[in-house]
Amino acid sequence: MKLAKQLLATAATLAVAAPALADVNVYSYRQPELIAPLTDAFTEATGIAVNVAYLDSGITERLVAEGDRSPADVILTVDISRLAEAVDAGVTQPIRTETLEKNVPAEFHDPDGHWWGLTTRARVVYASKERVADGEITTYEDLADPKWKGRICTRSGTHVYMLGLTSAYIKHHGEEAAKEWLTGLKDNLARKPQGNDRAQVKAIWAGECDISLGNTYYMGKMLQDEEQAEWANAVRLEFPVFEGGGTHVNISGVSLTKASKNVDEATQFIEFLTSPNAQEIYAEANYEYPIAPGTKAIDLVAGWGTFEADGLNLMEIAAERGTALRLTEEVDYDQ
Ligand code: FE
Repeated sequence: MKLAKQLLATAATLAVAAPALADVNVYSYRQPELIAPLTDAFTEATGIAVNVAYLDSGITERLVAEGDRSPADVILTVDISRLAEAVDAGVTQPIRTETLEKNVPAEFHDPDGHWWGLTTRARVVYASKERVADGEITTYEDLADPKWKGRICTRSGTHVYMLGLTSAYIKHHGEEAAKEWLTGLKDNLARKPQGNDRAQVKAIWAGECDISLGNTYYMGKMLQDEEQAEWANAVRLEFPVFEGGGTHVNISGVSLTKASKNVDEATQFIEFLTSPNAQEIYAEANYEYPIAPGTKAIDLVAGWGTFEADGLNLMEIAAERGTALRLTEEVDYDQ
């Protein structure tokens, strides 16, 4: 329980003497088991209650519909495309504080302060231990090489995780090259895109394909599941890079809503979430990477390999998502 104590200590330093503390209301795409330990610690240390509405979809639409009457102060979500969507819809407002700047490296927050990253995940290759040699795949570009014909499985090309990667490809190499790459990748597929990231690993385990694309944390999630651990043990992670770049990463993040009536309390909560201890706990709960200077992923996650995160600005990647979707449809990726 050492970490929990550290969390409390961190929260305590954020607790500013303020009369009549309002609650902080959160709309979250992230699951209760990830959020509850953090909100509990925050409340215990500051006396500020946190109410969380857990939603599967439609946070931006809901905030737009609610307008100024929205009770939400804070949005918690994953994927830069969802954060960008909220910003584009005008339902967030900027915050910038010294604490936030100190806790979140520049590449992981909006320059204007509309969103702040909390953790990262990489989108990498899951490779069959039996049928793919160490170091056989080193770049994303290589996924379009005909040597992989009939050997790759992925989920739908229109899922935000795939669109993020395609957007990064566009940003690195331009639209035409990205279309060629998508076509090559599609031609290499062992089957029509289907299922989630874990279903692709199951397909590798079952011998249907040799490599797939997936987010890093699914390795941890599969290992903690009795049935899926077998799938996980059939593969290892390879961390490809873009030619002239690094490994594609995405973030989980937090925004202050435009409608927030409790900006002071919400800001304290957001500062608390970005604190190194809170990031480590948040990251550990979902096998992700904390991003504050000096923080570390847990041993299991660190053991999957080291990588250099791609240097592209996440907002620039998000700006390409419309083009990425159009190209994915043009090449009929999902068939
Ligand atoms: Fe996921």
